[in-house]
Amino acid sequence: MKVLVSACLLGVRCRYDGQHKRHVGVERALAGCEIVPVCPEQAGGLPTPRPACQLRGGDGEALWQDRARVVDALGVDQSAAFREGARRCLQQAPDARRALLKEGSPSCGVRRCVIDGESRPGMGVLAALLARQGVALETEEGG
Ligand code: SF4
Repeated sequence: MKVLVSACLLGVRCRYDGQHKRHVGVERALAGCEIVPVCPEQAGGLPTPRPACQLRGGDGEALWQDRARVVDALGVDQSAAFREGARRCLQQAPDARRALLKEGSPSCGVRRCVIDGESRPGMGVLAALLARQGVALETEEGG
């Protein structure tokens, strides 16, 4: 089975601070699967390291509905880069029916992400796009 996976969970140093979030449980959980590592923020052309980003006005689904945006710590609107990066990740494995993503990220969060400066319920931009495609979403936190 093909699975899209947040690259930082696999040890890739693609986070905004240049670090990774390798999670051994993820590698165990995906044994035997065809792993497709993705980092939507890098795929959207953002550098590493980069200013941290957060959603404003709503979650990733709201962004796809043009009711929210993504802004970085310098105040720059990065919504277009987030959208483009998410689309490119989907293009890497359009037939994948499962994704295991980094919880809490404005791109990859599945149940929560930072919205208006607080960790709130909601999906990141990539997670929302994948959910629209019917991809089953899980995180390193399980479920
Ligand atoms: Fe990890 Fe996703 Fe953030 Fe990339 S965008 S560093 S894959 S959480």
